[in-house]
Amino acid sequence: MSAIAEPGAIASGTPQATKVVTRFAPSPTGFLHIGGARTALFNWLFARHHGGDFLLRIEDTDRARSTQPAIDAILDSMTWLGLDWDGDTVYQFARAARHAEVANELLASGHAYKCYATAEELTALRESQKAAKQPMRYDGRWRDRPASEAPEGAPYVVRIKAPKDGATTIEDRVQGPVTVQNAELDDFVLLRSDGTPTYMLAVVVDDHDMGVTHVIRGDDHLNNAFRQLTVIRGMGWPEPIYAHIPLIHGTDGAKLSKRHGAIGVDSYRDELGILPEALGNYLLRLGWGHGDDEVISREQAIEWFELAGVGKSPSRFDLKKLENLNGHYIRSADDARLAGLVAERLEFAVSPEQLDLLRRAMPALKPRAANLNELAGNTAFLFRTRPLLLDNDAAALLTAESRALLASAHSKLDALGRWDTESLEDAVRQTAEESGTKLGQIAQPLRAALTGKKTSPGIFEVLELLGREESLGRIADQMTA
Ligand code: GLU
Repeated sequence: MSAIAEPGAIASGTPQATKVVTRFAPSPTGFLHIGGARTALFNWLFARHHGGDFLLRIEDTDRARSTQPAIDAILDSMTWLGLDWDGDTVYQFARAARHAEVANELLASGHAYKCYATAEELTALRESQKAAKQPMRYDGRWRDRPASEAPEGAPYVVRIKAPKDGATTIEDRVQGPVTVQNAELDDFVLLRSDGTPTYMLAVVVDDHDMGVTHVIRGDDHLNNAFRQLTVIRGMGWPEPIYAHIPLIHGTDGAKLSKRHGAIGVDSYRDELGILPEALGNYLLRLGWGHGDDEVISREQAIEWFELAGVGKSPSRFDLKKLENLNGHYIRSADDARLAGLVAERLEFAVSPEQLDLLRRAMPALKPRAANLNELAGNTAFLFRTRPLLLDNDAAALLTAESRALLASAHSKLDALGRWDTESLEDAVRQTAEESGTKLGQIAQPLRAALTGKKTSPGIFEVLELLGREESLGRIADQMTA
Protein backbone atom coordinates (compact mmCIF):
# COMPACT_ATOMS: atom_id res chain seq x y z
CA MET A 1 0.00 0.00 0.00
CA SER A 2 1.28 3.44 -0.83
CA ALA A 3 1.32 6.06 1.88
CA ILE A 4 0.07 8.57 -0.63
CA ALA A 5 -3.50 8.68 -1.80
CA GLU A 6 -3.99 9.41 -5.47
CA PRO A 7 -3.65 13.20 -5.70
CA GLY A 8 -6.78 13.40 -7.80
CA ALA A 9 -8.74 11.65 -5.08
CA ILE A 10 -8.10 14.40 -2.57
CA ALA A 11 -10.47 17.27 -3.04
CA SER A 12 -9.55 20.65 -1.67
CA GLY A 13 -10.98 21.05 1.81
CA THR A 14 -11.61 17.34 2.35
CA PRO A 15 -12.39 16.95 6.05
CA GLN A 16 -9.52 15.42 7.94
CA ALA A 17 -9.82 11.75 8.69
CA THR A 18 -10.17 11.03 12.37
CA LYS A 19 -7.35 8.50 12.27
CA VAL A 20 -4.08 9.89 13.57
CA VAL A 21 -1.33 10.03 10.95
CA THR A 22 2.17 11.17 11.86
CA ARG A 23 5.33 11.18 9.84
CA PHE A 24 9.07 11.39 10.18
CA ALA A 25 10.67 13.40 7.39
CA PRO A 26 14.45 13.22 7.57
CA SER A 27 16.73 14.88 5.02
CA PRO A 28 19.22 12.16 4.03
CA THR A 29 22.34 14.29 4.19
CA GLY A 30 23.99 12.27 6.97
CA PHE A 31 23.41 9.61 9.60
CA LEU A 32 20.32 9.54 11.81
CA HIS A 33 21.37 11.68 14.74
CA ILE A 34 20.05 11.58 18.27
CA GLY A 35 17.62 14.50 17.76
CA GLY A 36 16.17 12.95 14.62
CA ALA A 37 15.81 9.59 16.31
CA ARG A 38 13.90 11.20 19.17
CA THR A 39 11.60 13.00 16.72
CA ALA A 40 10.97 9.69 14.96
CA LEU A 41 10.31 7.96 18.29
CA PHE A 42 7.81 10.60 19.44
CA ASN A 43 5.95 10.41 16.12
CA TRP A 44 5.96 6.63 16.26
CA LEU A 45 4.71 6.51 19.85
CA PHE A 46 2.01 9.08 19.23
CA ALA A 47 0.71 7.12 16.23
CA ARG A 48 0.87 3.79 18.02
CA HIS A 49 -0.79 5.24 21.13
CA HIS A 50 -3.71 6.42 19.03
CA GLY A 51 -3.85 3.37 16.80
CA GLY A 52 -2.87 5.55 13.86
CA ASP A 53 -0.26 5.38 11.13
CA PHE A 54 3.38 6.41 11.31
CA LEU A 55 4.75 7.30 7.88
CA LEU A 56 8.27 7.85 6.62
CA ARG A 57 9.20 10.44 4.03
CA ILE A 58 12.74 10.88 2.81
CA GLU A 59 13.23 14.55 1.97
CA ASP A 60 15.80 14.08 -0.74
CA THR A 61 15.17 17.25 -2.72
CA ASP A 62 18.63 18.61 -1.99
CA ARG A 63 20.20 16.53 -4.74
CA ALA A 64 23.74 17.61 -4.02
CA ARG A 65 23.66 16.62 -0.37
CA SER A 66 21.28 13.64 -0.31
CA THR A 67 23.04 10.29 -0.59
CA GLN A 68 22.00 6.66 -0.77
CA PRO A 69 24.34 5.64 2.10
CA ALA A 70 22.60 8.25 4.28
CA ILE A 71 19.18 6.88 3.30
CA ASP A 72 20.36 3.35 4.09
CA ALA A 73 21.78 4.46 7.45
CA ILE A 74 18.52 6.18 8.42
CA LEU A 75 16.35 3.19 7.50
CA ASP A 76 18.76 0.82 9.22
CA SER A 77 18.84 2.88 12.43
CA MET A 78 15.06 3.17 12.53
CA THR A 79 14.69 -0.56 12.07
CA TRP A 80 17.26 -1.19 14.79
CA LEU A 81 15.33 1.11 17.16
CA GLY A 82 12.14 -0.81 16.39
CA LEU A 83 10.47 2.18 14.73
CA ASP A 84 8.57 0.46 11.96
CA TRP A 85 6.63 2.62 9.55
CA ASP A 86 3.38 2.06 7.76
CA GLY A 87 3.10 1.89 4.00
CA ASP A 88 5.87 2.54 1.52
CA THR A 89 8.66 4.98 2.15
CA VAL A 90 7.83 8.22 0.33
CA TYR A 91 10.64 9.92 -1.58
CA GLN A 92 10.05 13.63 -1.88
CA PHE A 93 12.11 14.25 -5.00
CA ALA A 94 9.99 11.80 -6.99
CA ARG A 95 6.95 13.97 -6.30
CA ALA A 96 8.27 17.18 -7.85
CA ALA A 97 5.62 17.18 -10.60
CA ARG A 98 2.87 17.01 -8.00
CA HIS A 99 4.46 19.91 -6.07
CA ALA A 100 4.55 21.99 -9.24
CA GLU A 101 0.93 21.11 -9.91
CA VAL A 102 -0.07 22.59 -6.56
CA ALA A 103 1.98 25.73 -7.20
CA ASN A 104 0.11 26.15 -10.47
CA GLU A 105 -3.22 25.70 -8.71
CA LEU A 106 -2.24 28.44 -6.29
CA LEU A 107 -1.32 30.61 -9.25
CA ALA A 108 -4.66 29.95 -10.90
CA SER A 109 -6.61 30.72 -7.72
CA GLY A 110 -4.70 33.94 -7.13
CA HIS A 111 -2.92 32.70 -3.97
CA ALA A 112 0.42 32.85 -5.71
CA TYR A 113 1.98 35.00 -8.40
CA LYS A 114 4.82 35.08 -10.87
CA CYS A 115 7.78 37.18 -9.87
CA TYR A 116 10.20 38.34 -12.57
CA ALA A 117 12.66 40.09 -10.30
CA THR A 118 16.20 39.35 -11.49
CA ALA A 119 18.99 38.10 -9.25
CA GLU A 120 20.70 41.51 -9.54
CA GLU A 121 17.54 43.31 -8.50
CA LEU A 122 17.13 41.07 -5.46
CA THR A 123 20.76 41.53 -4.45
CA ALA A 124 20.33 45.31 -4.68
CA LEU A 125 17.14 45.05 -2.60
CA ARG A 126 18.90 43.04 0.09
CA GLU A 127 21.77 45.45 0.19
CA SER A 128 19.58 48.50 0.59
CA GLN A 129 17.59 46.74 3.35
CA LYS A 130 20.80 45.80 5.06
CA ALA A 131 22.10 49.37 4.87
CA ALA A 132 18.81 50.67 6.29
CA LYS A 133 18.98 48.00 9.01
CA GLN A 134 15.63 46.64 7.87
CA PRO A 135 14.74 42.96 7.93
CA MET A 136 15.89 41.43 4.67
CA ARG A 137 12.94 40.08 2.77
CA TYR A 138 11.35 40.23 -0.63
CA ASP A 139 9.30 43.40 -0.96
CA GLY A 140 6.42 42.05 -3.02
CA ARG A 141 7.30 44.09 -6.11
CA TRP A 142 5.49 41.69 -8.47
CA ARG A 143 2.65 40.89 -6.09
CA ASP A 144 0.09 43.21 -7.60
CA ARG A 145 1.50 43.87 -11.06
CA PRO A 146 -0.81 42.95 -13.89
CA ALA A 147 0.24 40.06 -16.12
CA SER A 148 0.45 42.49 -19.03
CA GLU A 149 3.58 43.97 -17.48
CA ALA A 150 5.39 40.63 -17.44
CA PRO A 151 8.55 40.71 -19.57
CA GLU A 152 8.03 38.49 -22.57
CA GLY A 153 9.71 35.08 -22.20
CA ALA A 154 11.70 36.12 -19.12
CA PRO A 155 12.29 33.55 -16.38
CA TYR A 156 10.13 33.84 -13.28
CA VAL A 157 9.65 32.19 -9.92
CA VAL A 158 6.26 31.48 -8.35
CA ARG A 159 5.76 33.15 -4.99
CA ILE A 160 3.05 32.64 -2.38
CA LYS A 161 0.82 35.63 -1.72
CA ALA A 162 1.21 35.69 2.06
CA PRO A 163 -1.32 37.63 4.15
CA LYS A 164 -0.12 41.13 5.02
CA ASP A 165 -2.51 42.15 7.76
CA GLY A 166 -3.50 40.66 11.06
CA ALA A 167 -1.72 37.86 12.83
CA THR A 168 -1.49 34.09 12.69
CA THR A 169 -1.64 31.97 15.82
CA ILE A 170 -0.62 28.35 16.01
CA GLU A 171 -1.98 26.36 18.94
CA ASP A 172 1.15 24.30 19.25
CA ARG A 173 0.70 21.18 21.40
CA VAL A 174 4.08 21.66 23.02
CA GLN A 175 4.84 25.37 22.77
CA GLY A 176 1.29 26.54 23.49
CA PRO A 177 -0.21 29.38 21.43
CA VAL A 178 2.42 31.10 19.29
CA THR A 179 1.50 34.24 17.36
CA VAL A 180 3.29 35.89 14.47
CA GLN A 181 2.26 39.18 12.87
CA ASN A 182 1.47 38.50 9.23
CA ALA A 183 3.49 41.53 8.22
CA GLU A 184 6.53 39.44 9.14
CA LEU A 185 5.70 36.72 6.63
CA ASP A 186 7.33 37.07 3.25
CA ASP A 187 6.12 36.04 -0.15
CA PHE A 188 8.50 33.12 -0.30
CA VAL A 189 9.27 31.13 -3.43
CA LEU A 190 7.22 28.02 -4.21
CA LEU A 191 8.66 27.17 -7.61
CA ARG A 192 12.10 28.17 -8.77
CA SER A 193 12.67 29.56 -12.24
CA ASP A 194 13.66 26.08 -13.45
CA GLY A 195 10.27 24.81 -12.28
CA THR A 196 11.59 22.86 -9.32
CA PRO A 197 9.65 23.11 -6.05
CA THR A 198 11.12 24.57 -2.90
CA TYR A 199 11.31 22.64 0.32
CA MET A 200 8.62 24.84 1.88
CA LEU A 201 6.12 23.85 -0.80
CA ALA A 202 7.10 20.18 -0.97
CA VAL A 203 6.62 19.61 2.78
CA VAL A 204 3.10 21.01 2.73
CA VAL A 205 1.99 19.11 -0.36
CA ASP A 206 3.44 15.84 0.88
CA ASP A 207 1.98 16.19 4.37
CA HIS A 208 -1.40 16.85 2.82
CA ASP A 209 -1.29 14.03 0.30
CA MET A 210 -0.05 11.62 2.96
CA GLY A 211 -2.99 12.61 5.16
CA VAL A 212 -0.74 13.76 8.00
CA THR A 213 -2.85 14.95 10.93
CA HIS A 214 -0.08 15.75 13.41
CA VAL A 215 3.23 17.37 12.54
CA ILE A 216 5.62 16.57 15.37
CA ARG A 217 9.14 17.87 14.74
CA GLY A 218 12.00 19.92 16.16
CA ASP A 219 11.23 23.49 17.20
CA ASP A 220 13.78 24.74 14.67
CA HIS A 221 10.86 24.31 12.25
CA LEU A 222 8.38 26.44 14.22
CA ASN A 223 8.95 29.52 12.04
CA ASN A 224 8.44 27.40 8.94
CA ALA A 225 5.01 26.35 10.21
CA PHE A 226 3.68 29.90 9.77
CA ARG A 227 4.91 30.03 6.21
CA GLN A 228 3.66 26.54 5.48
CA LEU A 229 0.22 27.51 6.78
CA THR A 230 -0.08 30.18 4.09
CA VAL A 231 0.18 27.44 1.46
CA ILE A 232 -2.25 25.18 3.33
CA ARG A 233 -4.77 28.01 3.65
CA GLY A 234 -4.28 29.03 0.05
CA MET A 235 -5.25 25.51 -1.00
CA GLY A 236 -8.08 25.36 1.53
CA TRP A 237 -6.64 22.18 2.99
CA PRO A 238 -7.21 21.00 6.56
CA GLU A 239 -4.56 22.30 8.91
CA PRO A 240 -2.49 19.74 10.79
CA ILE A 241 -1.96 19.92 14.51
CA TYR A 242 1.55 21.09 15.26
CA ALA A 243 3.84 19.98 18.05
CA HIS A 244 7.32 21.50 17.97
CA ILE A 245 9.64 19.77 20.38
CA PRO A 246 12.59 21.56 21.97
CA LEU A 247 16.04 20.63 20.77
CA ILE A 248 18.51 18.52 22.67
CA HIS A 249 21.44 20.25 24.34
CA GLY A 250 24.62 18.88 25.87
CA THR A 251 25.06 18.54 29.64
CA ASP A 252 26.69 21.98 29.63
CA GLY A 253 23.56 23.54 28.14
CA ALA A 254 25.15 24.30 24.76
CA LYS A 255 23.58 23.08 21.54
CA LEU A 256 24.35 19.40 21.04
CA SER A 257 27.50 18.86 19.06
CA LYS A 258 29.70 15.90 18.30
CA ARG A 259 31.64 16.36 21.50
CA HIS A 260 28.44 15.88 23.52
CA GLY A 261 27.44 12.70 21.76
CA ALA A 262 25.75 14.08 18.65
CA ILE A 263 26.91 11.06 16.75
CA GLY A 264 24.80 8.80 14.60
CA VAL A 265 22.49 6.21 16.07
CA ASP A 266 24.68 3.61 14.33
CA SER A 267 27.67 4.79 16.38
CA TYR A 268 25.74 4.29 19.61
CA ARG A 269 25.20 0.74 18.48
CA ASP A 270 28.56 -0.06 16.91
CA GLU A 271 31.06 2.07 18.81
CA LEU A 272 29.41 2.56 22.21
CA GLY A 273 27.73 -0.85 22.48
CA ILE A 274 24.30 0.48 23.42
CA LEU A 275 21.22 -1.76 23.19
CA PRO A 276 18.33 -0.40 21.11
CA GLU A 277 15.85 -0.63 23.99
CA ALA A 278 18.23 1.42 26.16
CA LEU A 279 18.64 4.13 23.54
CA GLY A 280 14.89 4.16 22.91
CA ASN A 281 14.12 4.44 26.61
CA TYR A 282 16.72 7.16 27.05
CA LEU A 283 15.43 9.19 24.09
CA LEU A 284 11.90 8.87 25.40
CA ARG A 285 12.91 10.28 28.76
CA LEU A 286 14.83 13.05 27.03
CA GLY A 287 12.17 15.72 26.88
CA TRP A 288 9.20 13.60 27.90
CA GLY A 289 8.23 12.42 31.31
CA HIS A 290 5.78 10.20 33.12
CA GLY A 291 6.19 11.00 36.80
CA ASP A 292 9.54 9.79 38.07
CA ASP A 293 9.62 6.70 35.89
CA GLU A 294 13.04 6.12 34.35
CA VAL A 295 12.84 2.57 33.07
CA ILE A 296 9.92 2.44 30.69
CA SER A 297 9.21 -0.48 28.40
CA ARG A 298 8.05 0.06 24.83
CA GLU A 299 4.59 -1.27 25.75
CA GLN A 300 4.27 1.16 28.65
CA ALA A 301 5.55 3.98 26.48
CA ILE A 302 2.85 3.30 23.87
CA GLU A 303 0.25 3.29 26.60
CA TRP A 304 1.45 6.46 28.27
CA PHE A 305 2.74 8.66 25.47
CA GLU A 306 0.92 11.94 25.07
CA LEU A 307 2.18 15.27 23.74
CA ALA A 308 1.18 16.89 27.03
CA GLY A 309 4.14 15.12 28.64
CA VAL A 310 6.69 16.80 26.34
CA GLY A 311 8.64 19.52 28.16
CA LYS A 312 8.98 23.04 26.83
CA SER A 313 12.64 23.59 27.58
CA PRO A 314 15.60 21.98 25.84
CA SER A 315 16.64 18.68 27.33
CA ARG A 316 20.20 17.79 28.20
CA PHE A 317 21.91 14.78 26.76
CA ASP A 318 23.82 12.82 29.39
CA LEU A 319 25.87 9.84 28.24
CA LYS A 320 26.24 8.61 31.85
CA LYS A 321 22.49 8.29 32.22
CA LEU A 322 22.28 6.48 28.92
CA GLU A 323 24.95 4.02 30.11
CA ASN A 324 23.09 3.47 33.38
CA LEU A 325 19.98 2.55 31.47
CA ASN A 326 22.06 0.42 29.13
CA GLY A 327 23.47 -1.47 32.10
CA HIS A 328 19.94 -2.09 33.28
CA TYR A 329 18.87 -3.45 29.90
CA ILE A 330 21.99 -5.59 29.58
CA ARG A 331 21.26 -7.14 32.97
CA SER A 332 17.73 -8.03 31.90
CA ALA A 333 18.58 -9.11 28.34
CA ASP A 334 18.34 -12.71 27.20
CA ASP A 335 21.66 -14.59 27.51
CA ALA A 336 21.63 -16.08 24.01
CA ARG A 337 20.97 -12.68 22.47
CA LEU A 338 23.80 -11.10 24.45
CA ALA A 339 26.12 -13.94 23.47
CA GLY A 340 25.36 -13.23 19.81
CA LEU A 341 25.98 -9.50 20.23
CA VAL A 342 29.24 -10.15 22.06
CA ALA A 343 30.35 -12.67 19.42
CA GLU A 344 30.04 -9.94 16.77
CA ARG A 345 32.45 -7.84 18.76
CA LEU A 346 35.17 -10.44 19.19
CA GLU A 347 38.13 -10.40 16.89
CA PHE A 348 37.85 -14.02 15.85
CA ALA A 349 35.15 -16.16 14.26
CA VAL A 350 33.22 -17.67 17.16
CA SER A 351 32.50 -21.40 16.85
CA PRO A 352 29.13 -22.84 17.95
CA GLU A 353 30.81 -24.25 21.08
CA GLN A 354 32.30 -20.88 21.91
CA LEU A 355 28.95 -19.23 21.37
CA ASP A 356 27.45 -21.65 23.84
CA LEU A 357 30.19 -20.86 26.31
CA LEU A 358 29.44 -17.16 25.90
CA ARG A 359 25.78 -17.79 26.60
CA ARG A 360 26.62 -19.75 29.73
CA ALA A 361 28.98 -16.99 30.87
CA MET A 362 26.37 -14.23 30.59
CA PRO A 363 24.71 -14.65 33.99
CA ALA A 364 28.13 -14.14 35.61
CA LEU A 365 29.22 -11.32 33.30
CA LYS A 366 26.17 -9.21 32.55
CA PRO A 367 25.64 -7.72 36.01
CA ARG A 368 28.79 -5.67 35.65
CA ALA A 369 28.76 -4.20 32.14
CA ALA A 370 27.58 -0.72 31.13
CA ASN A 371 27.89 -1.48 27.42
CA LEU A 372 28.51 -4.35 25.02
CA ASN A 373 32.17 -3.45 24.60
CA GLU A 374 32.78 -3.91 28.30
CA LEU A 375 30.78 -7.10 28.23
CA ALA A 376 32.82 -8.41 25.30
CA GLY A 377 36.05 -7.34 27.00
CA ASN A 378 35.08 -9.23 30.13
CA THR A 379 34.71 -12.45 28.16
CA ALA A 380 38.35 -12.35 27.07
CA PHE A 381 39.54 -14.73 29.79
CA LEU A 382 37.32 -17.49 28.40
CA PHE A 383 39.29 -17.66 25.16
CA ARG A 384 42.85 -17.04 26.24
CA THR A 385 45.46 -19.65 25.51
CA ARG A 386 47.89 -21.16 27.98
CA PRO A 387 50.17 -20.23 29.46
CA LEU A 388 48.39 -16.97 30.27
CA LEU A 389 50.28 -13.71 30.28
CA LEU A 390 49.30 -12.00 33.52
CA ASP A 391 48.83 -8.26 33.65
CA ASN A 392 50.88 -6.36 36.27
CA ASP A 393 48.16 -6.25 38.91
CA ALA A 394 47.54 -9.96 38.59
CA ALA A 395 51.25 -10.83 38.53
CA ALA A 396 51.71 -8.90 41.79
CA LEU A 397 49.29 -11.30 43.47
CA LEU A 398 51.56 -14.25 42.85
CA THR A 399 54.09 -14.57 45.65
CA ALA A 400 55.89 -17.69 46.82
CA GLU A 401 53.19 -18.03 49.44
CA SER A 402 50.26 -17.69 47.12
CA ARG A 403 51.82 -20.04 44.58
CA ALA A 404 51.91 -22.65 47.35
CA LEU A 405 48.23 -22.01 47.97
CA LEU A 406 47.59 -22.51 44.26
CA ALA A 407 49.29 -25.90 44.49
CA SER A 408 47.09 -26.95 47.41
CA ALA A 409 43.97 -25.76 45.59
CA HIS A 410 45.10 -27.62 42.50
CA SER A 411 45.31 -30.96 44.28
CA LYS A 412 41.93 -30.46 45.97
CA LEU A 413 40.27 -29.50 42.69
CA ASP A 414 41.99 -32.29 40.81
CA ALA A 415 40.49 -34.79 43.22
CA LEU A 416 36.92 -33.58 42.62
CA GLY A 417 34.48 -36.06 41.12
CA ARG A 418 32.11 -33.31 39.99
CA TRP A 419 32.88 -29.93 38.50
CA ASP A 420 29.95 -27.78 39.54
CA THR A 421 29.92 -24.53 41.51
CA GLU A 422 28.92 -26.24 44.71
CA SER A 423 31.75 -28.83 44.65
CA LEU A 424 34.20 -26.16 43.47
CA GLU A 425 33.27 -23.88 46.33
CA ASP A 426 33.65 -26.72 48.86
CA ALA A 427 37.08 -27.58 47.50
CA VAL A 428 38.36 -23.99 47.61
CA ARG A 429 36.95 -23.39 51.08
CA GLN A 430 38.57 -26.58 52.35
CA THR A 431 41.90 -25.52 50.90
CA ALA A 432 41.60 -22.20 52.71
CA GLU A 433 40.69 -23.86 55.99
CA GLU A 434 43.46 -26.43 55.79
CA SER A 435 46.01 -23.75 54.96
CA GLY A 436 44.75 -21.51 57.73
CA THR A 437 43.97 -18.60 55.38
CA LYS A 438 40.90 -16.66 54.46
CA LEU A 439 38.95 -17.46 51.31
CA GLY A 440 39.92 -14.13 49.76
CA GLN A 441 43.59 -14.92 50.10
CA ILE A 442 43.22 -17.94 47.93
CA ALA A 443 40.59 -16.53 45.60
CA GLN A 444 42.86 -13.69 44.49
CA PRO A 445 45.79 -15.80 43.23
CA LEU A 446 43.30 -18.22 41.71
CA ARG A 447 41.68 -15.36 39.84
CA ALA A 448 45.07 -14.18 38.64
CA ALA A 449 46.01 -17.65 37.44
CA LEU A 450 42.66 -18.36 35.79
CA THR A 451 41.98 -15.03 34.12
CA GLY A 452 45.30 -13.15 34.07
CA LYS A 453 43.58 -10.24 35.80
CA LYS A 454 42.80 -8.93 39.24
CA THR A 455 39.08 -8.60 38.61
CA SER A 456 36.66 -11.10 37.14
CA PRO A 457 33.31 -12.68 37.88
CA GLY A 458 33.06 -14.93 40.94
CA ILE A 459 35.90 -17.41 41.06
CA PHE A 460 33.63 -20.48 41.25
CA GLU A 461 31.76 -19.39 38.16
CA VAL A 462 35.08 -18.83 36.38
CA LEU A 463 36.22 -22.35 37.28
CA GLU A 464 32.97 -23.85 36.12
CA LEU A 465 32.95 -21.93 32.82
CA LEU A 466 36.55 -22.81 32.00
CA GLY A 467 35.99 -26.47 32.83
CA ARG A 468 38.21 -28.95 34.61
CA GLU A 469 41.04 -29.40 32.18
CA GLU A 470 41.57 -25.77 31.29
CA SER A 471 41.22 -24.59 34.91
CA LEU A 472 43.69 -27.12 36.28
CA GLY A 473 46.09 -26.34 33.46
CA ARG A 474 45.98 -22.58 34.10
CA ILE A 475 46.48 -23.07 37.83
CA ALA A 476 49.38 -25.48 37.27
CA ASP A 477 51.03 -22.96 34.94
CA GLN A 478 51.31 -20.47 37.83
CA MET A 479 52.24 -22.84 40.67
CA THR A 480 55.90 -22.23 40.08
CA ALA A 481 57.53 -18.94 39.22
N1 GLU B 1 13.45 17.41 6.48
C1 GLU B 1 13.34 18.24 7.64
C2 GLU B 1 14.54 17.99 8.53
O1 GLU B 1 15.17 16.96 8.40
C3 GLU B 1 12.10 17.98 8.45
C4 GLU B 1 10.92 18.68 7.91
C5 GLU B 1 9.68 18.53 8.73
O2 GLU B 1 9.67 17.71 9.69
O3 GLU B 1 8.72 19.20 8.42
O4 GLU B 1 14.85 18.82 9.35
